[in-house]
Amino acid sequence: MKLAIITGISGQDGAYLTKLLLENQYKVIGLVRNTAASFNGLNYLGILDEVELIACDLLDITQVTQILKTYNPDEIYNLAAQSSVSESYANPIGTFEFNTISVFNIIEAIRNTNPAIKLYQASSSEMFGKVGKLPITETSLIHPLSPYAISKVAAHYTCVNYRESYGLFICCGILFNHESYLRSSGFFVKKVIRESLEISQNKRTNLQVGNIDIKRDFGYAPKYVEAMHLLLQQEKPSDYLICSGQSVSLRDIIYYVFDKLNIDRSLCVINKAFYRPADIEDIYGNNEKAKTELSWQYDLDFFEVLDLLIEEEISNDKKNH
Ligand code: NAP
Repeated sequence: MKLAIITGISGQDGAYLTKLLLENQYKVIGLVRNTAASFNGLNYLGILDEVELIACDLLDITQVTQILKTYNPDEIYNLAAQSSVSESYANPIGTFEFNTISVFNIIEAIRNTNPAIKLYQASSSEMFGKVGKLPITETSLIHPLSPYAISKVAAHYTCVNYRESYGLFICCGILFNHESYLRSSGFFVKKVIRESLEISQNKRTNLQVGNIDIKRDFGYAPKYVEAMHLLLQQEKPSDYLICSGQSVSLRDIIYYVFDKLNIDRSLCVINKAFYRPADIEDIYGNNEKAKTELSWQYDLDFFEVLDLLIEEEISNDKKNH
């Protein structure tokens, strides 16, 4: 039986990845800030009792090293991060500190305990930022546009450097936006679906949003975690773009959800307070490397994903009320 350690197990990806690894007969250990937290994602998927949760401050290398010495995992999936672009403008230094030092600590702990441990690092399409040529590929220029993106670039190149300098088995999955029912409510797609449902139930008067003429490459989280696992099963470590290959405008997403729930489009209100200091206008990636080398399969259109998400939100809303 393989042993995997997951950081960020309480998040969206952590929950779906845990489910996948358990289905593949792994023993899963989650490193968490607070073992008394509620772990809604793991609970929702019915797997909370199947994992071991250990409190660990990822900013403390002594704690990280001790855990690796004790458990000697086959694989580590590093998903923990301050993951919100918006929050990174409010807390740039905290975002940079956590998203980079935690990665250094994990890699140094691997190097000093067992260099054979394989590491997956959660990199982000936000790293590309000021996009030149589309579609983005693994060799596109990096030009981050937010404190979050800057932190992810630093973490990404820390991984690349340790792989090249010390031969460590480190793979970065450069994931584009991916969504699910378990997405936190501050993120765009979840917010649109949740708040639109509330409008349709007369619990809210409108949907307030920022710049909705930007376009993003959105995908479905339960399928994207499959790629994370595949990355660490390769013979040689490398970095891969994980994306759908198409971009959709935020406006089209809102109108699609509104139409499904019979909401008048005039209830979408632009609020300049939600605008970001800088934003990517349009971004989509090329997933050929992942599809060819990892045999990762993905062919969902994002409007199909929206159908799934709206249905799940409505069904859980009925159960909870
Ligand atoms: P998420 O739902 O926001 O989860 C983030 C996880 O990180 C949570 O488990 C959270 O734990 C943990 N975390 C945050 N700050 C921490 C801290 N200071 N100390 C310890 N743990 C901390 O994120 P996600 O959507 O699952 O994304 C997983 C990873 O992929 C992240 O690194 C994210 O940046 C990256 N990524 C995500 C996307 C996407 O579209 N979802 C795209 C590209 C890359 P708590 O519950 O304790 O807060």
